[in-house]
Amino acid sequence: MDLKALWKLSYGLYVIGVKNDKGFGGCIVDAVVQATSEEKPKVIVCCMNSNKTKDLIKQHKEITLSVLPNNVDPFVIANFGYQSSKNTDKWSNVEHTSFYSLPVLKKAASCLFLKLVDEKQWETHTVFTLEVQDAYTGEGEPLIYGDYQKNLKDKTREAFMRFREQSKSNSDKKEEVWVCTVCGYIYDGDIPFEDLPNDYTCPRCGQPKEVFEKQ
Ligand code: FE
Repeated sequence: MDLKALWKLSYGLYVIGVKNDKGFGGCIVDAVVQATSEEKPKVIVCCMNSNKTKDLIKQHKEITLSVLPNNVDPFVIANFGYQSSKNTDKWSNVEHTSFYSLPVLKKAASCLFLKLVDEKQWETHTVFTLEVQDAYTGEGEPLIYGDYQKNLKDKTREAFMRFREQSKSNSDKKEEVWVCTVCGYIYDGDIPFEDLPNDYTCPRCGQPKEVFEKQ
């Protein structure tokens, strides 16, 4: 059997928005299909079983789907595809708006609001059938998964590396504090400690700048 034959099936890329305990979770999926169009239109969405979003869909039973446009910022794909909703608030990193109290991307080719009607768990993935409750068309043409593979995969990886480095340097800055070795006062001003004037003195014990140490 030539499984590469399946690569000729066409998909897009989509971001799921769903409630979680603290706010909202979500992930990137490619396996989305319109299953019926008459009366109550339904779509099928497949999610990996190891994915936190799968649990959130089972729990909350409603989601949004943002259809990625072909001019999507590769960071959006990295943000939703390369990290877990368990550890990070993905939606806080991207421009989004609200649709039925759930997040959708501001720059989406279209957005759907869906309610769960059926689910079937297979070995690796869960197949959800969802009914379309409401939808609107956004700007641009949809991104095709094959074009992502050809043109955007490397850019997506690069965007994620930049994001990781930036987050790391921000958290390093936060962790680094200057402490007065005489009285224990911790400097918490907005100006970086190194940039303070040389005649700066500890506001608690009055000792000069030199007695402060980075910790
Ligand atoms: Fe002091």
